[in-house]
Amino acid sequence: MDTAVQQTGNKALIDKFGRRVDYIRLSVTDRCDFRCVYCMTEDMTFLPRNQVLTLEEIHTIAQAFTELGVNKIRLTGGEPLVRSNVMSLIERLGKLEGLKELLLTTNGAQLEKFAAPLRAAGVNRINISIDSLDAERFRRISRFGKLESVLAGIEAARAQNFERIRLNAVIMKGYNDDEVLGLTEFALARNVDLAFIEEMPLGNASDHDRESTVCSNDWVREVISSRYELLPSTVSTAGPSKYYKIPGHESRIGFISPVSHNFCSDCNRVRVTVEGRLLLCLGNEHSVDLRAILRSENGDIETLKQAIIAAMDLKPERHHFYEKDYVQPVRLMNMTGG
Ligand code: SAM
Ligand code: SF4
Repeated sequence: MDTAVQQTGNKALIDKFGRRVDYIRLSVTDRCDFRCVYCMTEDMTFLPRNQVLTLEEIHTIAQAFTELGVNKIRLTGGEPLVRSNVMSLIERLGKLEGLKELLLTTNGAQLEKFAAPLRAAGVNRINISIDSLDAERFRRISRFGKLESVLAGIEAARAQNFERIRLNAVIMKGYNDDEVLGLTEFALARNVDLAFIEEMPLGNASDHDRESTVCSNDWVREVISSRYELLPSTVSTAGPSKYYKIPGHESRIGFISPVSHNFCSDCNRVRVTVEGRLLLCLGNEHSVDLRAILRSENGDIETLKQAIIAAMDLKPERHHFYEKDYVQPVRLMNMTGG
């Protein structure tokens, strides 16, 4: 081990509020085969290729973080499975020393093809987004998506031995707020988890006013409680999610409530966009350009690690969604890495 590595080798990532960062969300693309109304506009312009991290650069960033004590990586996007050759990256990530959990969030449309190779590459858990069980509505929300391919993807994932599968649903007034119970039944019948995510104000969604469509998870929970007994579970993810169990069922029902509840004091995560911006908080613009470091003359992994350690001081205490002076980040969720 050279001296430089010794300098940063054992250093944990701790921010100035004493929070330990051991989880990163890595975006592998800003592109997607869907255009979900809460995430993208209909006519998106995607990043030019030279601004996107190469698979090699993404791997170097992941390695730098694992050498700094990060033991959990979630791959996201955009839609991670539309990135060409993504499996070659995932196979290498699965072998990173120190990594305990490799996770993926997907829209599920291509899981029929990818579920088996993902599991073989060491992906432990998988999240699949599904906002409606009605084909026409599903298309309205995702603009381009086909419900049947996502349903087939969910079945393909169930046939693999993932440690857990979780469905994600964003409930929006006027779009799918009458599907809370239907989605719950669907998950319970398949022994998979289900998380309800409150729509977050990131970027301008083109065809609705977010403040009028956002459904609070307190309301979603009440709807579920009208039919099922919800028992708080002890599972904690150090994030904005709260999990419940329904007696007699394997599934966990989660509520991810970044808007109505603020769990920032436990936050253990940062994000890296596919442009290589290290985002210290979902709801703030603080960031560090890791791509510039990687592409600079002295851009080795050690320089990168020093920059990541220094960046911890920029992690803000919390986000301020919908508060009086909240300045909405201009980036949409596909650029953020959900
Ligand atoms: N394409 C993949 C998918 O849809 O699962 C991964 C990326 S997507 C950005 C990750 C998650 O973010 C999805 O579950 C999606 O529903 C959620 N999401 C996107 N935009 C959102 C927003 N404005 N508010 C809340 N959740 C959002
Ligand atoms: Fe694509 Fe996922 Fe965004 Fe939908 S939520 S547009 S599937 S990245």
